[in-house]
Amino acid sequence: MAGENGAQIDGAQIIVNALKLNDIDTLFGVVGIPITDLARLAQKEGIRYIGFRHEQNAGNAAAISGYMTGKPGICLTVSAPGFLNGMVALANATTNGFPMILISGSSDRAIVDLQRGDYEELDQMNAAKPYAKAAYRVNRAEDLGLGLARAIRTAVSGRPGGVYLDLPADVLAATLDAQLAEKSLIKVVDPAPRQIPAPDAVERALKLLAGARRPLIVIGKGAAYSRAEDSIREFVEKTGIPFLPMSMGKGVVPDTHPQCAAAARSLVLGQADVVLLLGARLNWLLGHGKSPEWAADGKIIQVDVHAAEMDSNRGVAAPVVADIGSAMEAFLAGLPSAGIAPQQEWLQTISAKIDTNRAKMAKHLAATPQPLDFYAAYNAVRSVISDNKELYIVSEGANTLDFGRNLIDMHLPRRRLDVGTWGVMGIGMGYSIGAAVTSGQQVLAIEGDSAFGFSGMEIETIARYKLPVTILIFNNGGIYRGDNVNLSGGADPSPTTLEVAHYDQMMQAVGGLGFHVETQEELAAALKEALASGKPALINCVIDPHAGTESGHLTNLNPQSTVSHT
Ligand code: ADP
Ligand code: MG
Repeated sequence: MAGENGAQIDGAQIIVNALKLNDIDTLFGVVGIPITDLARLAQKEGIRYIGFRHEQNAGNAAAISGYMTGKPGICLTVSAPGFLNGMVALANATTNGFPMILISGSSDRAIVDLQRGDYEELDQMNAAKPYAKAAYRVNRAEDLGLGLARAIRTAVSGRPGGVYLDLPADVLAATLDAQLAEKSLIKVVDPAPRQIPAPDAVERALKLLAGARRPLIVIGKGAAYSRAEDSIREFVEKTGIPFLPMSMGKGVVPDTHPQCAAAARSLVLGQADVVLLLGARLNWLLGHGKSPEWAADGKIIQVDVHAAEMDSNRGVAAPVVADIGSAMEAFLAGLPSAGIAPQQEWLQTISAKIDTNRAKMAKHLAATPQPLDFYAAYNAVRSVISDNKELYIVSEGANTLDFGRNLIDMHLPRRRLDVGTWGVMGIGMGYSIGAAVTSGQQVLAIEGDSAFGFSGMEIETIARYKLPVTILIFNNGGIYRGDNVNLSGGADPSPTTLEVAHYDQMMQAVGGLGFHVETQEELAAALKEALASGKPALINCVIDPHAGTESGHLTNLNPQSTVSHT
Protein backbone atom coordinates (compact mmCIF):
# COMPACT_ATOMS: atom_id res chain seq x y z
CA MET A 1 0.00 0.00 0.00
CA ALA A 2 2.13 2.89 -1.22
CA GLY A 3 0.56 6.03 0.24
CA GLU A 4 0.10 9.45 -1.30
CA ASN A 5 2.37 12.26 -0.25
CA GLY A 6 2.86 12.30 3.47
CA ALA A 7 0.74 9.20 4.14
CA GLN A 8 2.05 7.09 7.01
CA ILE A 9 2.13 3.30 7.31
CA ASP A 10 3.10 1.24 10.32
CA GLY A 11 5.65 -1.49 10.87
CA ALA A 12 3.07 -4.27 10.61
CA GLN A 13 2.07 -3.02 7.14
CA ILE A 14 5.71 -2.69 6.09
CA ILE A 15 6.57 -6.27 7.01
CA VAL A 16 3.44 -7.55 5.24
CA ASN A 17 4.45 -5.58 2.14
CA ALA A 18 7.95 -7.02 2.38
CA LEU A 19 6.61 -10.58 2.64
CA LYS A 20 4.40 -10.06 -0.40
CA LEU A 21 7.21 -8.50 -2.40
CA ASN A 22 9.20 -11.70 -1.77
CA ASP A 23 6.32 -13.96 -2.83
CA ILE A 24 5.69 -15.35 0.64
CA ASP A 25 2.12 -16.56 0.40
CA THR A 26 1.54 -18.42 3.70
CA LEU A 27 2.14 -17.82 7.40
CA PHE A 28 1.86 -20.56 10.03
CA GLY A 29 1.42 -19.32 13.58
CA VAL A 30 -0.36 -18.72 16.85
CA VAL A 31 -1.49 -15.15 17.51
CA GLY A 32 -1.40 -13.06 20.68
CA ILE A 33 0.44 -9.96 21.93
CA PRO A 34 2.03 -8.31 19.93
CA ILE A 35 1.41 -9.98 16.56
CA THR A 36 -2.37 -10.50 16.39
CA ASP A 37 -2.89 -7.46 14.20
CA LEU A 38 -0.01 -8.44 11.97
CA ALA A 39 -1.66 -11.80 11.23
CA ARG A 40 -5.01 -10.10 10.58
CA LEU A 41 -3.39 -7.63 8.23
CA ALA A 42 -1.47 -10.34 6.38
CA GLN A 43 -4.73 -12.23 5.80
CA LYS A 44 -6.45 -9.05 4.61
CA GLU A 45 -3.62 -8.50 2.14
CA GLY A 46 -3.98 -11.97 0.63
CA ILE A 47 -1.36 -13.94 2.53
CA ARG A 48 -2.80 -17.24 3.76
CA TYR A 49 -2.68 -17.47 7.53
CA ILE A 50 -2.92 -20.91 9.17
CA GLY A 51 -3.56 -20.65 12.91
CA PHE A 52 -2.39 -23.49 15.17
CA ARG A 53 -2.94 -24.53 18.78
CA HIS A 54 0.75 -24.70 19.69
CA GLU A 55 3.74 -22.90 18.19
CA GLN A 56 5.90 -26.01 17.86
CA ASN A 57 3.43 -27.44 15.39
CA ALA A 58 3.15 -24.16 13.47
CA GLY A 59 6.95 -24.11 13.27
CA ASN A 60 7.09 -27.70 12.05
CA ALA A 61 4.52 -26.86 9.37
CA ALA A 62 6.63 -23.91 8.24
CA ALA A 63 9.81 -26.01 8.20
CA ILE A 64 8.34 -28.82 6.10
CA SER A 65 6.82 -26.30 3.75
CA GLY A 66 10.34 -24.91 3.29
CA TYR A 67 11.67 -28.40 2.55
CA MET A 68 8.92 -29.04 0.00
CA THR A 69 9.22 -25.73 -1.85
CA GLY A 70 12.79 -24.48 -1.36
CA LYS A 71 11.30 -21.18 -0.17
CA PRO A 72 11.53 -20.35 3.52
CA GLY A 73 8.45 -21.43 5.48
CA ILE A 74 7.37 -18.70 7.89
CA CYS A 75 6.20 -19.22 11.46
CA LEU A 76 4.75 -16.34 13.45
CA THR A 77 4.68 -16.42 17.25
CA VAL A 78 4.11 -14.21 20.25
CA SER A 79 6.90 -13.22 22.61
CA ALA A 80 8.82 -15.29 25.21
CA PRO A 81 6.86 -18.54 25.84
CA GLY A 82 5.36 -18.63 22.35
CA PHE A 83 8.78 -17.90 20.91
CA LEU A 84 10.35 -20.71 22.96
CA ASN A 85 7.65 -23.14 21.91
CA GLY A 86 8.52 -22.31 18.31
CA MET A 87 12.25 -22.72 18.95
CA VAL A 88 12.06 -26.52 19.03
CA ALA A 89 10.82 -26.41 15.46
CA LEU A 90 13.43 -23.82 14.43
CA ALA A 91 16.24 -25.92 15.91
CA ASN A 92 14.83 -29.02 14.20
CA ALA A 93 14.69 -27.14 10.87
CA THR A 94 18.32 -26.07 11.25
CA THR A 95 19.44 -29.59 12.13
CA ASN A 96 17.63 -31.02 9.12
CA GLY A 97 18.65 -28.27 6.70
CA PHE A 98 15.12 -27.01 6.07
CA PRO A 99 14.71 -23.31 5.21
CA MET A 100 12.47 -21.63 7.75
CA ILE A 101 12.05 -18.21 9.36
CA LEU A 102 10.63 -17.87 12.84
CA ILE A 103 9.23 -14.36 13.25
CA SER A 104 8.36 -13.45 16.82
CA GLY A 105 7.06 -10.31 18.38
CA SER A 106 9.03 -9.21 21.43
CA SER A 107 8.71 -6.93 24.43
CA ASP A 108 10.22 -3.52 25.19
CA ARG A 109 14.01 -3.79 24.93
CA ALA A 110 14.67 -1.00 27.43
CA ILE A 111 12.92 -3.13 30.01
CA VAL A 112 14.06 -6.56 28.80
CA ASP A 113 17.75 -5.67 28.62
CA LEU A 114 17.84 -4.36 32.20
CA GLN A 115 15.69 -7.30 33.31
CA ARG A 116 13.17 -4.95 34.88
CA GLY A 117 10.40 -7.50 34.50
CA ASP A 118 8.21 -6.98 31.45
CA TYR A 119 5.19 -8.96 30.25
CA GLU A 120 6.74 -11.97 28.49
CA GLU A 121 10.25 -10.69 29.05
CA LEU A 122 13.02 -12.56 27.23
CA ASP A 123 16.15 -11.68 25.26
CA GLN A 124 14.81 -13.68 22.35
CA MET A 125 17.43 -12.89 19.73
CA ASN A 126 20.27 -14.16 21.88
CA ALA A 127 18.24 -17.11 23.10
CA ALA A 128 17.70 -18.15 19.49
CA LYS A 129 21.31 -17.89 18.34
CA PRO A 130 22.71 -21.28 19.38
CA TYR A 131 19.80 -23.13 17.76
CA ALA A 132 19.42 -21.17 14.54
CA LYS A 133 21.52 -20.65 11.43
CA ALA A 134 21.30 -16.93 12.28
CA ALA A 135 19.27 -14.62 14.50
CA TYR A 136 18.44 -11.03 13.59
CA ARG A 137 16.53 -8.23 15.29
CA VAL A 138 14.96 -5.23 13.60
CA ASN A 139 15.22 -2.09 15.71
CA ARG A 140 13.79 0.52 13.33
CA ALA A 141 10.76 0.38 11.05
CA GLU A 142 12.92 1.50 8.11
CA ASP A 143 14.98 -1.73 8.53
CA LEU A 144 12.07 -4.18 8.34
CA GLY A 145 12.60 -4.82 4.62
CA LEU A 146 16.31 -5.33 5.19
CA GLY A 147 15.70 -7.70 8.09
CA LEU A 148 13.38 -9.89 6.07
CA ALA A 149 15.73 -9.90 3.08
CA ARG A 150 18.63 -11.05 5.27
CA ALA A 151 16.47 -13.70 6.86
CA ILE A 152 15.34 -15.08 3.49
CA ARG A 153 18.81 -15.22 1.98
CA THR A 154 20.33 -16.80 5.07
CA ALA A 155 17.57 -19.42 5.31
CA VAL A 156 17.88 -20.71 1.74
CA SER A 157 21.47 -20.14 0.60
CA GLY A 158 24.24 -22.68 1.16
CA ARG A 159 23.00 -25.38 3.53
CA PRO A 160 19.45 -24.23 4.30
CA GLY A 161 18.38 -23.75 7.89
CA GLY A 162 16.24 -21.95 10.43
CA VAL A 163 16.55 -18.19 10.90
CA TYR A 164 15.12 -16.17 13.75
CA LEU A 165 13.75 -12.67 13.07
CA ASP A 166 12.84 -10.60 16.09
CA LEU A 167 10.25 -7.85 15.69
CA PRO A 168 9.81 -5.74 18.84
CA ALA A 169 6.29 -4.48 19.49
CA ASP A 170 7.33 -0.82 19.19
CA VAL A 171 8.83 -1.43 15.74
CA LEU A 172 5.56 -3.01 14.57
CA ALA A 173 3.69 0.04 15.83
CA ALA A 174 6.15 2.68 14.56
CA THR A 175 5.00 4.69 11.56
CA LEU A 176 6.95 5.75 8.50
CA ASP A 177 6.26 7.82 5.42
CA ALA A 178 4.68 5.37 2.99
CA GLN A 179 6.96 6.22 0.08
CA LEU A 180 10.09 5.92 2.21
CA ALA A 181 8.79 2.64 3.53
CA GLU A 182 8.25 1.33 0.00
CA LYS A 183 11.77 2.28 -0.96
CA SER A 184 13.18 0.50 2.08
CA LEU A 185 11.94 -2.90 0.85
CA ILE A 186 14.27 -5.39 -0.82
CA LYS A 187 13.24 -8.09 -3.26
CA VAL A 188 15.83 -10.81 -2.83
CA VAL A 189 17.36 -11.71 -6.21
CA ASP A 190 18.53 -15.31 -6.68
CA PRO A 191 18.31 -16.22 -2.98
CA ALA A 192 19.90 -19.67 -3.38
CA PRO A 193 22.51 -19.23 -6.13
CA ARG A 194 23.71 -22.35 -7.91
CA GLN A 195 27.03 -23.64 -6.67
CA ILE A 196 28.92 -25.05 -9.62
CA PRO A 197 31.46 -27.77 -8.76
CA ALA A 198 35.13 -27.23 -9.58
CA PRO A 199 36.10 -29.27 -12.69
CA ASP A 200 39.03 -30.95 -10.94
CA ALA A 201 36.75 -32.08 -8.10
CA VAL A 202 34.37 -33.65 -10.62
CA GLU A 203 37.23 -35.35 -12.42
CA ARG A 204 38.64 -36.75 -9.16
CA ALA A 205 35.23 -38.12 -8.20
CA LEU A 206 34.55 -39.78 -11.56
CA LYS A 207 38.01 -41.31 -11.62
CA LEU A 208 37.49 -42.86 -8.21
CA LEU A 209 34.11 -44.19 -9.26
CA ALA A 210 35.57 -45.66 -12.47
CA GLY A 211 38.13 -47.58 -10.42
CA ALA A 212 35.47 -49.02 -8.10
CA ARG A 213 34.42 -52.65 -8.28
CA ARG A 214 31.66 -52.48 -5.71
CA PRO A 215 30.29 -48.92 -5.94
CA LEU A 216 27.21 -47.62 -4.17
CA ILE A 217 25.22 -44.38 -4.32
CA VAL A 218 23.53 -43.11 -1.12
CA ILE A 219 20.67 -40.69 -1.76
CA GLY A 220 19.83 -38.39 1.15
CA LYS A 221 17.23 -35.74 1.79
CA GLY A 222 19.67 -33.08 0.50
CA ALA A 223 19.25 -34.73 -2.90
CA ALA A 224 15.48 -34.62 -2.52
CA TYR A 225 15.65 -30.97 -1.49
CA SER A 226 17.81 -30.08 -4.49
CA ARG A 227 15.12 -31.30 -6.90
CA ALA A 228 17.72 -33.12 -8.98
CA GLU A 229 15.68 -36.33 -9.29
CA ASP A 230 15.80 -36.42 -13.08
CA SER A 231 19.57 -36.13 -13.37
CA ILE A 232 20.15 -38.45 -10.40
CA ARG A 233 18.02 -41.13 -12.00
CA GLU A 234 19.79 -40.66 -15.32
CA PHE A 235 23.16 -41.04 -13.57
CA VAL A 236 22.01 -44.12 -11.66
CA GLU A 237 20.73 -45.78 -14.83
CA LYS A 238 23.64 -44.84 -17.06
CA THR A 239 26.24 -46.08 -14.56
CA GLY A 240 24.30 -49.14 -13.37
CA ILE A 241 25.39 -48.42 -9.78
CA PRO A 242 23.03 -49.67 -7.03
CA PHE A 243 21.57 -47.01 -4.77
CA LEU A 244 20.45 -46.82 -1.17
CA PRO A 245 17.89 -44.17 -0.22
CA MET A 246 17.96 -42.51 3.19
CA SER A 247 14.54 -42.27 4.80
CA MET A 248 13.52 -38.91 3.35
CA GLY A 249 15.55 -39.58 0.21
CA LYS A 250 13.09 -42.37 -0.64
CA GLY A 251 11.31 -41.64 -3.93
CA VAL A 252 14.06 -39.49 -5.51
CA VAL A 253 14.52 -42.65 -7.54
CA PRO A 254 11.52 -44.95 -6.90
CA ASP A 255 11.96 -47.65 -4.25
CA THR A 256 10.66 -50.12 -6.84
CA HIS A 257 13.56 -49.36 -9.21
CA PRO A 258 15.58 -52.52 -10.02
CA GLN A 259 18.80 -50.85 -8.81
CA CYS A 260 17.37 -50.02 -5.37
CA ALA A 261 19.46 -51.85 -2.77
CA ALA A 262 17.40 -50.86 0.27
CA ALA A 263 16.52 -54.48 0.99
CA ALA A 264 20.25 -55.29 1.18
CA ARG A 265 21.27 -52.26 3.27
CA SER A 266 23.75 -53.95 5.60
CA LEU A 267 25.39 -55.84 2.81
CA VAL A 268 25.95 -52.86 0.51
CA LEU A 269 27.23 -50.55 3.26
CA GLY A 270 29.47 -53.28 4.62
CA GLN A 271 31.03 -54.24 1.30
CA ALA A 272 31.00 -51.23 -1.03
CA ASP A 273 34.52 -50.11 -2.00
CA VAL A 274 33.44 -46.63 -3.16
CA VAL A 275 30.36 -44.84 -1.84
CA LEU A 276 29.00 -41.73 -3.53
CA LEU A 277 27.02 -39.66 -1.02
CA LEU A 278 24.45 -37.37 -2.60
CA GLY A 279 23.10 -34.98 0.07
CA ALA A 280 23.48 -37.41 2.96
CA ARG A 281 25.63 -36.83 6.03
CA LEU A 282 27.77 -39.49 7.64
CA ASN A 283 25.97 -38.98 10.96
CA TRP A 284 24.45 -41.56 13.31
CA LEU A 285 21.89 -42.53 10.66
CA LEU A 286 24.78 -43.97 8.63
CA GLY A 287 26.78 -45.37 11.53
CA HIS A 288 29.17 -42.37 11.17
CA GLY A 289 30.62 -44.08 8.11
CA LYS A 290 32.64 -46.40 10.35
CA SER A 291 33.11 -50.13 10.65
CA PRO A 292 31.52 -52.47 11.49
CA GLU A 293 28.65 -50.99 9.48
CA TRP A 294 30.99 -49.75 6.75
CA ALA A 295 33.89 -51.41 4.99
CA ALA A 296 36.95 -49.97 6.73
CA ASP A 297 38.96 -49.56 3.53
CA GLY A 298 36.12 -48.12 1.42
CA LYS A 299 36.48 -44.69 -0.18
CA ILE A 300 34.01 -41.85 0.00
CA ILE A 301 32.88 -39.36 -2.63
CA GLN A 302 30.68 -36.74 -1.07
CA VAL A 303 28.55 -34.19 -2.90
CA ASP A 304 27.35 -31.51 -0.52
CA VAL A 305 26.61 -27.81 -0.69
CA HIS A 306 28.25 -27.32 2.71
CA ALA A 307 32.05 -27.54 2.45
CA ALA A 308 32.57 -28.05 6.19
CA GLU A 309 30.56 -31.28 6.04
CA MET A 310 33.53 -33.02 4.36
CA ASP A 311 35.67 -35.15 6.71
CA SER A 312 33.15 -34.65 9.52
CA ASN A 313 33.29 -38.36 10.42
CA ARG A 314 35.95 -39.94 8.24
CA GLY A 315 38.20 -38.82 5.44
CA VAL A 316 36.45 -38.00 2.18
CA ALA A 317 38.64 -39.02 -0.76
CA ALA A 318 36.74 -36.96 -3.33
CA PRO A 319 34.81 -33.98 -1.96
CA VAL A 320 32.54 -32.20 -4.42
CA VAL A 321 31.25 -28.96 -2.97
CA ALA A 322 28.28 -27.96 -5.08
CA ASP A 323 24.55 -27.99 -5.27
CA ILE A 324 23.50 -31.47 -6.30
CA GLY A 325 21.73 -30.35 -9.47
CA SER A 326 24.91 -28.71 -10.76
CA ALA A 327 27.08 -31.61 -9.62
CA MET A 328 24.88 -34.15 -11.41
CA GLU A 329 25.02 -32.12 -14.62
CA ALA A 330 28.80 -32.10 -14.43
CA PHE A 331 28.91 -35.83 -13.62
CA LEU A 332 26.64 -36.63 -16.55
CA ALA A 333 28.75 -34.52 -18.88
CA GLY A 334 31.86 -36.42 -17.80
CA LEU A 335 30.29 -39.89 -17.98
CA PRO A 336 30.96 -40.88 -21.61
CA SER A 337 34.73 -40.80 -21.09
CA ALA A 338 34.75 -42.00 -17.48
CA GLY A 339 34.29 -45.74 -18.05
CA ILE A 340 32.23 -46.54 -14.94
CA ALA A 341 30.97 -50.10 -14.61
CA PRO A 342 30.23 -51.99 -11.41
CA GLN A 343 31.32 -55.63 -11.29
CA GLN A 344 28.66 -58.13 -12.32
CA GLU A 345 29.52 -60.23 -9.28
CA TRP A 346 28.68 -57.27 -7.00
CA LEU A 347 25.29 -56.81 -8.60
CA GLN A 348 24.56 -60.54 -8.34
CA THR A 349 25.56 -60.65 -4.68
CA ILE A 350 23.19 -57.77 -3.98
CA SER A 351 20.30 -59.24 -5.87
CA ALA A 352 20.72 -62.61 -4.13
CA LYS A 353 20.65 -60.87 -0.75
CA ILE A 354 17.56 -58.91 -1.74
CA ASP A 355 15.81 -62.15 -2.68
CA THR A 356 16.69 -63.77 0.65
CA ASN A 357 15.56 -60.76 2.66
CA ARG A 358 12.33 -60.41 0.66
CA ALA A 359 11.51 -64.07 1.28
CA LYS A 360 12.04 -63.57 5.02
CA MET A 361 9.83 -60.51 4.94
CA ALA A 362 7.13 -62.35 2.98
CA LYS A 363 6.94 -64.94 5.75
CA HIS A 364 6.32 -62.25 8.37
CA LEU A 365 3.76 -60.58 6.13
CA ALA A 366 1.87 -63.78 5.47
CA ALA A 367 0.98 -64.21 9.15
CA THR A 368 -2.44 -62.95 10.23
CA PRO A 369 -2.25 -62.52 14.00
CA GLN A 370 -5.18 -61.15 15.95
CA PRO A 371 -4.72 -58.66 17.62
CA LEU A 372 -2.67 -57.21 14.78
CA ASP A 373 1.08 -56.76 15.02
CA PHE A 374 2.98 -54.13 13.00
CA TYR A 375 3.59 -56.42 10.01
CA ALA A 376 -0.05 -57.39 9.76
CA ALA A 377 -1.24 -53.80 10.12
CA TYR A 378 1.17 -52.51 7.48
CA ASN A 379 0.39 -55.40 5.19
CA ALA A 380 -3.30 -54.48 5.32
CA VAL A 381 -2.60 -50.96 4.02
CA ARG A 382 0.35 -51.48 1.66
CA SER A 383 -1.69 -51.93 -1.47
CA VAL A 384 -4.04 -49.05 -0.63
CA ILE A 385 -1.00 -46.81 -0.23
CA SER A 386 0.75 -47.99 -3.38
CA ASP A 387 -2.45 -47.28 -5.32
CA ASN A 388 -2.03 -43.62 -4.22
CA LYS A 389 1.47 -42.78 -5.44
CA GLU A 390 0.97 -39.04 -4.99
CA LEU A 391 0.23 -39.44 -1.30
CA TYR A 392 2.38 -37.52 1.17
CA ILE A 393 3.40 -39.85 3.98
CA VAL A 394 4.21 -38.29 7.34
CA SER A 395 5.52 -40.71 9.94
CA GLU A 396 6.78 -40.81 13.50
CA GLY A 397 6.90 -43.27 16.35
CA ALA A 398 9.38 -46.04 17.10
CA ASN A 399 8.16 -49.36 15.69
CA THR A 400 5.52 -47.61 13.60
CA LEU A 401 8.25 -45.51 11.99
CA ASP A 402 10.79 -48.29 11.51
CA PHE A 403 8.40 -50.84 10.01
CA GLY A 404 6.87 -48.22 7.74
CA ARG A 405 10.22 -47.11 6.37
CA ASN A 406 10.87 -50.65 5.21
CA LEU A 407 7.37 -51.66 4.17
CA ILE A 408 6.02 -48.57 2.41
CA ASP A 409 7.55 -47.91 -1.01
CA MET A 410 7.86 -44.32 -2.18
CA HIS A 411 7.52 -43.50 -5.85
CA LEU A 412 7.95 -39.73 -5.94
CA PRO A 413 10.49 -37.38 -4.33
CA ARG A 414 9.79 -35.28 -1.22
CA ARG A 415 6.72 -37.34 -0.37
CA ARG A 416 8.06 -39.06 2.74
CA LEU A 417 8.27 -36.60 5.65
CA ASP A 418 9.47 -38.13 8.88
CA VAL A 419 11.44 -37.66 12.07
CA GLY A 420 14.62 -36.83 10.17
CA THR A 421 18.06 -36.09 11.54
CA TRP A 422 17.10 -35.83 15.19
CA GLY A 423 14.67 -38.74 15.20
CA VAL A 424 12.37 -36.25 16.94
CA MET A 425 8.83 -37.00 18.14
CA GLY A 426 6.17 -34.33 17.71
CA ILE A 427 6.47 -33.46 14.02
CA GLY A 428 3.33 -35.40 13.01
CA MET A 429 0.48 -32.93 12.85
CA GLY A 430 2.71 -29.93 12.05
CA TYR A 431 4.24 -31.68 9.04
CA SER A 432 0.82 -33.02 7.98
CA ILE A 433 -0.76 -29.58 8.02
CA GLY A 434 2.28 -28.00 6.36
CA ALA A 435 2.25 -30.64 3.62
CA ALA A 436 -1.50 -30.41 3.00
CA VAL A 437 -1.52 -26.61 2.90
CA THR A 438 1.58 -26.39 0.71
CA SER A 439 0.63 -29.11 -1.78
CA GLY A 440 -3.16 -29.00 -1.68
CA GLN A 441 -2.93 -32.80 -1.85
CA GLN A 442 -3.85 -35.75 0.33
CA VAL A 443 -1.63 -36.50 3.33
CA LEU A 444 -1.47 -39.74 5.31
CA ALA A 445 0.14 -39.50 8.74
CA ILE A 446 1.14 -42.92 10.11
CA GLU A 447 1.66 -42.39 13.83
CA GLY A 448 2.54 -44.35 16.90
CA ASP A 449 0.05 -43.64 19.68
CA SER A 450 2.69 -41.97 21.82
CA ALA A 451 4.09 -39.90 18.93
CA PHE A 452 0.59 -38.67 18.03
CA GLY A 453 0.11 -37.32 21.53
CA PHE A 454 2.82 -34.68 21.10
CA SER A 455 0.81 -32.74 18.53
CA GLY A 456 -2.63 -34.38 18.66
CA MET A 457 -4.58 -31.24 19.53
CA GLU A 458 -3.88 -29.97 16.02
CA ILE A 459 -6.61 -32.24 14.69
CA GLU A 460 -8.81 -29.23 15.49
CA THR A 461 -6.63 -27.17 13.11
CA ILE A 462 -6.92 -29.89 10.46
CA ALA A 463 -10.70 -29.85 10.85
CA ARG A 464 -10.98 -26.03 10.97
CA TYR A 465 -9.13 -25.67 7.65
CA LYS A 466 -10.85 -28.79 6.23
CA LEU A 467 -7.51 -30.29 5.19
CA PRO A 468 -7.26 -33.64 3.37
CA VAL A 469 -5.31 -35.31 6.16
CA THR A 470 -5.86 -38.89 7.27
CA ILE A 471 -4.20 -39.92 10.52
CA LEU A 472 -3.58 -43.61 11.03
CA ILE A 473 -2.62 -44.44 14.61
CA PHE A 474 -1.00 -47.77 15.38
CA ASN A 475 -2.20 -47.96 18.94
CA ASN A 476 -0.39 -50.45 21.15
CA GLY A 477 -1.11 -48.49 24.31
CA GLY A 478 2.39 -47.43 25.08
CA ILE A 479 5.73 -45.90 24.31
CA TYR A 480 7.41 -48.71 22.32
CA ARG A 481 5.08 -51.37 23.76
CA GLY A 482 1.96 -51.47 25.86
CA ASP A 483 2.77 -54.43 28.09
CA ASN A 484 5.26 -53.02 30.62
CA VAL A 485 4.50 -53.25 34.33
CA ASN A 486 5.31 -51.04 37.31
CA LEU A 487 8.37 -52.74 38.80
CA SER A 488 7.43 -51.60 42.31
CA GLY A 489 4.16 -53.49 42.08
CA GLY A 490 2.36 -50.23 42.84
CA ALA A 491 -0.85 -48.99 41.26
CA ASP A 492 0.65 -46.39 38.91
CA PRO A 493 1.11 -47.41 35.29
CA SER A 494 4.68 -48.13 34.12
CA PRO A 495 6.70 -45.27 32.56
CA THR A 496 6.00 -46.58 29.06
CA THR A 497 2.28 -47.29 29.52
CA LEU A 498 -0.47 -45.26 27.81
CA GLU A 499 -4.23 -45.70 27.63
CA VAL A 500 -5.48 -47.52 24.54
CA ALA A 501 -7.53 -44.38 23.97
CA HIS A 502 -10.27 -43.93 21.38
CA TYR A 503 -8.43 -41.22 19.43
CA ASP A 504 -11.04 -41.65 16.69
CA GLN A 505 -13.55 -39.98 18.98
CA MET A 506 -11.30 -36.93 19.24
CA MET A 507 -11.55 -36.53 15.49
CA GLN A 508 -15.32 -36.95 15.62
CA ALA A 509 -15.46 -34.26 18.31
CA VAL A 510 -13.98 -31.73 15.88
CA GLY A 511 -16.25 -32.77 13.01
CA GLY A 512 -13.98 -35.19 11.13
CA LEU A 513 -14.34 -38.89 10.36
CA GLY A 514 -13.29 -41.32 13.09
CA PHE A 515 -12.74 -45.07 12.65
CA HIS A 516 -11.92 -47.67 15.28
CA VAL A 517 -10.48 -50.83 13.68
CA GLU A 518 -9.10 -54.09 14.99
CA THR A 519 -8.74 -56.35 11.93
CA GLN A 520 -6.91 -56.17 8.61
CA GLU A 521 -10.19 -56.00 6.71
CA GLU A 522 -11.55 -53.17 8.85
CA LEU A 523 -8.27 -51.28 8.55
CA ALA A 524 -8.04 -51.53 4.75
CA ALA A 525 -11.68 -50.52 4.34
CA ALA A 526 -11.34 -47.56 6.69
CA LEU A 527 -8.23 -46.28 4.95
CA LYS A 528 -9.87 -46.52 1.55
CA GLU A 529 -12.91 -44.64 2.80
CA ALA A 530 -10.86 -42.00 4.60
CA LEU A 531 -8.62 -41.25 1.61
CA ALA A 532 -11.54 -41.20 -0.82
CA SER A 533 -13.41 -38.72 1.37
CA GLY A 534 -10.65 -36.11 1.20
CA LYS A 535 -11.85 -35.07 4.64
CA PRO A 536 -10.04 -34.90 7.96
CA ALA A 537 -10.05 -38.47 9.23
CA LEU A 538 -8.50 -40.53 11.99
CA ILE A 539 -8.20 -44.29 12.10
CA ASN A 540 -7.48 -45.76 15.50
CA CYS A 541 -5.97 -49.17 14.81
CA VAL A 542 -5.53 -51.44 17.81
CA ILE A 543 -2.14 -53.19 17.84
CA ASP A 544 -1.09 -56.04 20.13
CA PRO A 545 0.49 -54.45 23.24
CA HIS A 546 3.19 -57.14 23.09
CA ALA A 547 4.18 -56.18 19.52
CA GLY A 548 7.26 -54.05 18.90
CA THR A 549 10.62 -53.61 20.53
CA GLU A 550 11.80 -51.04 23.04
CA SER A 551 13.27 -48.05 21.16
CA GLY A 552 12.39 -49.67 17.80
CA HIS A 553 15.59 -50.07 15.75
CA LEU A 554 17.55 -47.89 18.19
CA THR A 555 17.79 -50.32 21.08
CA ASN A 556 21.58 -49.96 20.94
CA LEU A 557 21.34 -46.25 21.80
CA ASN A 558 19.97 -46.96 25.28
CA PRO A 559 22.62 -47.03 28.03
CA GLN A 560 24.23 -50.48 27.74
CA SER A 561 24.55 -51.31 31.42
CA THR A 562 25.15 -54.93 32.38
CA VAL A 563 22.64 -54.59 35.23
CA SER A 564 19.06 -55.50 34.31
CA HIS A 565 16.17 -53.28 35.43
CA THR A 566 13.37 -55.46 34.15
P1 ADP B 1 19.82 -37.72 5.27
O1 ADP B 1 19.35 -37.64 6.68
O2 ADP B 1 18.76 -38.02 4.30
O3 ADP B 1 21.03 -38.58 5.15
P2 ADP B 1 21.15 -35.28 5.75
O4 ADP B 1 20.24 -34.25 6.29
O5 ADP B 1 22.03 -36.00 6.69
O6 ADP B 1 20.31 -36.27 4.85
O7 ADP B 1 22.11 -34.61 4.70
C1 ADP B 1 21.63 -33.69 3.78
C2 ADP B 1 22.84 -32.97 3.25
O8 ADP B 1 22.46 -32.36 2.03
C3 ADP B 1 23.36 -31.86 4.17
O9 ADP B 1 24.70 -32.08 4.48
C4 ADP B 1 23.16 -30.59 3.34
O10 ADP B 1 24.24 -29.69 3.51
C5 ADP B 1 23.10 -31.11 1.93
N1 ADP B 1 22.31 -30.32 1.02
C6 ADP B 1 21.14 -29.71 1.23
N2 ADP B 1 20.70 -29.12 0.12
C7 ADP B 1 21.62 -29.36 -0.83
C8 ADP B 1 21.75 -29.02 -2.20
N3 ADP B 1 20.83 -28.31 -2.83
N4 ADP B 1 22.84 -29.46 -2.86
C9 ADP B 1 23.78 -30.18 -2.22
N5 ADP B 1 23.71 -30.54 -0.95
C10 ADP B 1 22.65 -30.14 -0.25
MG1 MG C 1 2.80 -47.15 20.99
